[in-house]
This record gives sequence, C-alpha cells and structure tokens, in this order.
Amino acid sequence: MALTDLSMLELAAKLAAGALSSVEATRACLARAAQVDGKVKAFLRLDEKGALAAAEASDARRKAGNPASPLDGVPIGLKDIFLTEGVETTCASRILQGFIPPYDATVVSLLKQAGLPIMGKLNMDEFAMGSSTESSAYGPTHNPWALDRTPGGSSGGSAAAVAAREVFGALGTDTGGSIRQPAALTNLVGLKPTYGRVSRYGVIAFASSLDQVGPMARTVADTAALLQLIARHDPLDSTSAPVEAPDYREDLEGGVRGLKLGVPREYFIDGMDPEVEATVREALRDYERMGATLVEVSLPHTKYALATYYLLAPAEASSNLARYDGVRYGLRAKDAKGLREMYGQTRERGFGAEVKRRIMLGTYALSAGYYDAYYLRAQKVRTLIRQDFSRAFEQVDAILSPTSPVPAFKLGEKADDLLAMYLMDVFTLPCNLAGIPGLSLPCGFTKSNLPIGLQILGKPFDEARMLRIARAFEREHDFTRRLAPV
Ligand code: GLN
Repeated sequence: MALTDLSMLELAAKLAAGALSSVEATRACLARAAQVDGKVKAFLRLDEKGALAAAEASDARRKAGNPASPLDGVPIGLKDIFLTEGVETTCASRILQGFIPPYDATVVSLLKQAGLPIMGKLNMDEFAMGSSTESSAYGPTHNPWALDRTPGGSSGGSAAAVAAREVFGALGTDTGGSIRQPAALTNLVGLKPTYGRVSRYGVIAFASSLDQVGPMARTVADTAALLQLIARHDPLDSTSAPVEAPDYREDLEGGVRGLKLGVPREYFIDGMDPEVEATVREALRDYERMGATLVEVSLPHTKYALATYYLLAPAEASSNLARYDGVRYGLRAKDAKGLREMYGQTRERGFGAEVKRRIMLGTYALSAGYYDAYYLRAQKVRTLIRQDFSRAFEQVDAILSPTSPVPAFKLGEKADDLLAMYLMDVFTLPCNLAGIPGLSLPCGFTKSNLPIGLQILGKPFDEARMLRIARAFEREHDFTRRLAPV
C-alpha cells in the first residue's frame, strides 16, 4: 500500500508511533501531485514551502511528545474559497487574481493550530457557482475515476485531490450541494454541517444564509476527525452557533439498530439514473438488515426547492459580490476613464458568464417592484421547506436519499444546458434551505465503475448520529476502501 493511500487516521497512527514523519507524508503528497495533477488538475496553487515547514514543525512536536491534535502532521488541501494569509486566494475567479489575503479564515487558523500541513489551494467553480468545476476561470478539474468526466462541484478540486490521494483530506463549502455532490461523484465522504456549526469568517461569501464549511475525506472516521477540529463557536462570525461540539468519534461504532430512517417519497423521481436508484434502494435494504426501521416520509414542498434556491442564492450573491469593484481586491481595469467605467470594465473582465448571470438574476429579484413577488415569496417558501423537515424529524432520526440524481457526467456535457446543470442539486439544496446537516456516503458503483453516493440528512446539530449511521454502512462494505484508478 502506498503511503498516500492511507486514511488520515491511519497516517496519524503511524505518525504517533514514530513509524513515519510528517515530512515524509508531505513529500509523498507532493510527489503524488507531481505525478497525477497534470491530468487531474485539482490544484490551483501548491504551497510546497509552507507545507514542508508545517510538516517539520509537526515532526518536532511529535518528537517532543507534544502533538497539537490527533491529526497533527496530516497534509490536507483547501478549496480556494478560504482566505489564507500570504497565499493567493482567487475563488477560481479572474477578479481576484493576485489577491493575497492579509489573514487566515477561522477554519484555516484552526487547522494550522491543529498542526495540519496545508498543501495548497484547490480548484472550484467560480465563486462556488456550479456543479462541475467547469465555471472555474482556470479550467476544469478532472475526475480521478474517469478523466473525461467531472468530479462534480463546486468543491470539485477538493474532491479530486482527496480521491486522487494528492492530499489526505480537504475542506470544502456547500451552499446547495457543493461538498456532497462532488463527494458522491468521487467516492468520498462529504459532510455539510448544520448552518452555524462551523465558522464562515474568512470564507469568501456566495450566499451567506446558505453557505457552510465542511470536511471531505475517504472514510467516515476521517470525516469525523476533521469535523472535530473545526466545529466550534467563533465570535467573529455572528451566525456561528454557541453550541458545544460533542466527541464525533465516541459513538461511531454504535450501529443503527432501533433507529428510524426516513425515505422521502419526493426524492425518488422520474429521470434519475436507474443505476443510482437501484444502488440507493439496495443501500436502504442494507439498513433494514442492520436493524433500522425504514419509514416513508413526505417533504411536500421539495418541488419548489430548486426555484426557491435560484432566487435566494443569486439575490444574496448579487449583494455579496458588489464588493468586487476593482478598488479593494485583485483585478483592476487600469485603462478605464473615470470611476464608473473602471467599476464596469473590471466587473466585465473579471467575472465569468455564470457569475454574471447570477448577479443579474439576483439584482432583478431584489429590485423595487419585484422584491415582493420574488425574494419575499421565496423566503416564505423557504420556511415551508424547513417545516417539511421539522415535521419529518418528529417521526424519524434521519432521512436517506440519493445525493446526486446521476453519476459523474462527461466534461462539457451539460455546459450549455443550464437547467440540466441546476438539476444536479435537486436532492442536496433543500438541506441548505432548511439549515440542517447533510452527508454523502459512498454506497456503490455503476457498471462502468463510477461512484454513487447515499445522502444522509439529519436534525440540526445531530452530526454525530449521522456519522454513526454512515459508519454502520461503511463497516459492511468495502466501498470507501476502493481507490480511484488514476
Ligand atoms: N450547484 C449549486 C450552485 O450552483 C450549489 C453550489 C454550492 O453549493 N456552492 O449554486
């Protein structure tokens, strides 16, 4: 087994035992990236020097018997949406080209304090708007399971880097599915925590009422261990919840006997891939065999979720992205005559087509005369969607569904079909609208060896139980041990 094939916790055990050093692990990741990233294109920026310096410091701490955390010394990657002090951060947009943040996002500080070497910044859809990484201004990322296919998005670089074993784990963000969908398409575990569970301070904002940071890793236990490092209250984020995090690994092996798992009628729809449906239904039967009770539930407002999301998310984005004016960050159109022209030309040149489309949609939805008809109405429907979940959770402990209606699709296949691309999130975005946690778990493969993900939705702040439910399935199968062929 190659060093880079180890899980985060397996590597951590070897580091703790002195069988391996963090410098060796970091060098192995760098070598792996040199070998495969020309094909995968997960990295926008490698920080070889920073990673090796952090690894040396980690080895010194381990030697002194003083590790900073259980994952001290385990190299990871970051979606390029997290501010990293002194390391260029572009959110995969031209408009942030050359932007060097003066401080770290809270989650970045937490990972540094915990001793994890940060290998670099990973590709994504521009400003996290997309489901395939194809809207990145720097070209798409390729799926390590099939290089002519997308790894999903928007955290596609994070997913691909972990699946290709260029890093041991990564952080992504999820506004409508951007952690869970790429995790599903690359055979990873991806968790979008409860809104407010993880700090958004220093995370470039897309839709602030929906955005949430979360871990992506190859096993359930790794996901739990990574979440443990970042799940805490942050006074710098006013929406961060003052809720103590439990020990996410304590009850991982607790099984599902006696749990009630909801199966939403509305999440098995016409037009979904038959292999995805069959594999997810098989996983549901496995849960029954393991002692859980399946309960059919209804989330009647599901059919409005996509429309609601595509009003609210662009509305918030149009406001958040107003700050990119050529004055404060990155790109500036220098040849423009006067301030207004400079604003206009900077934004014209700096933003890609999808981002412009969202800004226009959002500006329209918020404009006087349309605000009540669109934005306000969408907010009301959002409440109905949230109530659907509250009602369902009176009956069940968690909800199971497919993560994505289809496995990884070919790069370019949906690039010109906006609606087809937006449909990639039908099963993931109601969770963001409701603010509840969602997890994607590898649950099988198509005949052509493409990964399929099972989604587990939980009650607010019930991540520990969701991880336990995921672990019960993982224990019965070898799916999370299967490695991408790249
Ligand atoms: N694909 C969705 C969108 O384009 C969700 C993206 C995300 O979760 N960041 O908005």
